[in-house]
Amino acid sequence: MMAQYRTLKDQHPDCVLLFRLGDFYEVFFEDAPTVAQAIGLQLTRRNEIPMCGLPWHQLESYLPQLIQKGFRVALCEQLEDPAEAKKRGPKALVRRDITRIITPGTLTEDTLLTPRSHNYLAAVTSVRGNYGLAWLDLSTGVFQCQPLSVAELGPRLAALEPSEILLPEILTQRPELFELWRQWKARLTVQPDATFHPANGRERLLKLYQTQSLDAFGAFGVPETTAAAALVAYLDLTQKGATLGLQPLSAVHGDGVLQIDPATRRNLELTATLAGGSKGSLLSVIDRTVTAAGGRLFREQLANPLTDVMAINARLDAVGWWTERAPLIEILRAPLKTAPDLERSLGRLALRRGGPRDLAAIAGGLTLAEGLRNLLAQQDGGLPPLLAAAWQALPVCLPLTARLEDALADDLPMLARDGGFIRTGFNPRLDELRRLASDGALVIRDLEARYRKESGIATLKIKHNNILGYYIEVTSRFADQMGAPFIHRQTMSGAARFTTTELGDLQSQLLKADAEAKGLELQLFEELATMILAEMPALHAAAGALATLDVTSALADLALRQNYVRPEIAADVAFTIEAGRHPVVEAMLAAGDATPFAPNGCCLEDGGRLWLLTGPNMAGKSTFLRQNALMVILAQMGSFVPARRARIGVVDKLFSRVGAADDLAQGRSTFMVEMIETAAILNQATARSLVILDEIGRGTATYDGLSIAWATLEYLHAHNQCRGLFATHYHELTQLAGQLPHLAAHTMDVRETAQGIVFLHQVKPGQADRSYGIFVAQLAGMPTPVLERAEHILSRLEEDRVQGRGLTDLPLFTPQHFRRTAASSPVEDALRGIDPDALTPKEALEQLYVLKATARTFKPAA
Ligand code: ATP
Repeated sequence: MMAQYRTLKDQHPDCVLLFRLGDFYEVFFEDAPTVAQAIGLQLTRRNEIPMCGLPWHQLESYLPQLIQKGFRVALCEQLEDPAEAKKRGPKALVRRDITRIITPGTLTEDTLLTPRSHNYLAAVTSVRGNYGLAWLDLSTGVFQCQPLSVAELGPRLAALEPSEILLPEILTQRPELFELWRQWKARLTVQPDATFHPANGRERLLKLYQTQSLDAFGAFGVPETTAAAALVAYLDLTQKGATLGLQPLSAVHGDGVLQIDPATRRNLELTATLAGGSKGSLLSVIDRTVTAAGGRLFREQLANPLTDVMAINARLDAVGWWTERAPLIEILRAPLKTAPDLERSLGRLALRRGGPRDLAAIAGGLTLAEGLRNLLAQQDGGLPPLLAAAWQALPVCLPLTARLEDALADDLPMLARDGGFIRTGFNPRLDELRRLASDGALVIRDLEARYRKESGIATLKIKHNNILGYYIEVTSRFADQMGAPFIHRQTMSGAARFTTTELGDLQSQLLKADAEAKGLELQLFEELATMILAEMPALHAAAGALATLDVTSALADLALRQNYVRPEIAADVAFTIEAGRHPVVEAMLAAGDATPFAPNGCCLEDGGRLWLLTGPNMAGKSTFLRQNALMVILAQMGSFVPARRARIGVVDKLFSRVGAADDLAQGRSTFMVEMIETAAILNQATARSLVILDEIGRGTATYDGLSIAWATLEYLHAHNQCRGLFATHYHELTQLAGQLPHLAAHTMDVRETAQGIVFLHQVKPGQADRSYGIFVAQLAGMPTPVLERAEHILSRLEEDRVQGRGLTDLPLFTPQHFRRTAASSPVEDALRGIDPDALTPKEALEQLYVLKATARTFKPAA
């Protein structure tokens, strides 16, 4: 057996091998300590061989841990009953083989998957310099491909977020891809170059779909079909010949999708915050879908906003239709909330990994879909095209639905082999067999009563165990009285066991009935599954339609509840937002009892294609920048937007460089990251792009930073000619506003009061004269001496700039200085001398003036 283990392990050296041995999966040799540690199993040794094991029925609870910890798992099963093997000789080995390799990109079990995210397996290749990308989700059957350039590869992968990426060995050596592979390192699976052979690839796809040509599916280029075929080859390898249930391959074209590079995605916190959680991301605030498939489609649309005006408007029409029928939204969503995940159940059934609950999910999904079809049909006026298409795809009384409903019992086991999932009355033979089994118990009781009577032994019992089956037991003192028909089987201490021919016959009838019932149920399961698979395209379409209804109605719900408006989508480079809001900051402020969000407009037209934004820290610059970028994403994904009015000319690429986050895990400094990302923007932004730059250059020395920011702004203005928002603390840059015709200066409004400044969070034309950094430091609780010292240095710096002197004559900040200042503030001294109870209101006011004056004239001792 160990030789058998070795052979299998050697075929899959990169996997941990779970080797089925009776009721356990055992892990041996070098895998044992790693696996034992990773999932907390007891490590033991037998004949010096390290091993650990887990009960077979707990596989599903251990697998997620192994997969999450980055293991690939090869599952080795027993292919025959050990009793079968014994027929070949007492020492014959049970036949075993690997039935499946479980990798992050090929998961299908609900326990291993996130319901509201796709689980993509992607493949990248290049054929004669042209790149091709293909991706599939084995759990739902989605299968797509796209031709693309090297520059598009990073953004596309960031949008897909594949769990696993296949690539040929040769691509690991391309210098232009080093950076990309470094980012995706943990998810790469390198395959031999031969897997990516174009001619073999075509053959493989034709074989998969059993057709002569792929033309019927669409127009494909060689690179992307080669990548698609490599995915199929990988599934052959990992799924060990299981049928796949993939939908027809479909082609995606990059120019139909808003390009958002990975840094922009991160910075805008679309699906995760910079800290890594999903709470606080845009998705978490705007996703109101109620089904898992709707959640997946929503996420997909958010990750891939469109660029085609007609396509965007088609989505907006659908959302608009629901907003005009607010009560209908709830009528739809109430039943949708209970919708099962049709797509994933279908995926498992196609792979022959489904169970009775998957049949029930299909039945439930279909019944729901049929009901919703009627609901939509009852609405007055026509449906907008997107909803009309969804309506068309919803099934009308499929015979399959009725058949499944008739067949399935109310309580369903996880696995078909456990039996008991077919409803009584569905199959007469099954009912008969079950009756036999249940009647059997009664017949046994009758027999027991008869034997008691015949033998005169009132304590005689008929019992059952796994070794003897049914047997008759009497206490020892009656053993000698047991003549014919009783046949002696066993003597125990205190008891004797017997059987009779009649009991033996009854037992074999019962066993046969039970086995036959289970066999018949399995056969019925197969029949039902086959019926379902025959309807696969219609079922996928129905599932897609349900997801569309969920997403469009969820967006309408969002629009109505949060007061979003339909954006006007233009083919030009318009950008006018009236009273726009940041969806996430607005939601956060609404959740607390802080001041409400202050809306701000933004118009990047008429001489103001680029806005230069100055203003104090904390005044809301970053929020304003991001809210305009998010407005584009929302509008182009087909959502209404948080504004009073919005007109947006379709953006082709969106770039955002917001804040400076150290990428220490990746071994790069803040400033390096900032420059890499800025370089990407300057090299790629077009006149149709929107660029958001927040404090470029702040990661280096003042003059370096200012120079870089200055040159960047000029380049964006003259060369890229894109729409953009540029926030900065370098007030010097505002001079450019007078010189560059398309640059407009704006600032964040603040009100100065006696207590300090108040942020109004309002954007207005003009420029800020100060940064109020020290005021913000005070709000943050910096020690007073440090603040005072900073004020002092600042005033000297400002004087020096005018007079051209250095800071060398500024005496050093010393601990003595700190102590002295801290102990002897004249304001505090004066306060100590005041007795408020002894003052008239007029005197109190006078004292206040005195204190104010003291505070103004007081400078810490230098
Ligand atoms: P810094 O220069 O320090 O990065 P900033 O000017 O970019 O600051 P933001 O980070 O955008 O400021 O905003 C600071 C805080 O002000 C936000 O967390 C939010 O709570 C609040 N805020 C921003 N904009 C608004 C607004 N329009 N209405 C109400 N509150 C706002």
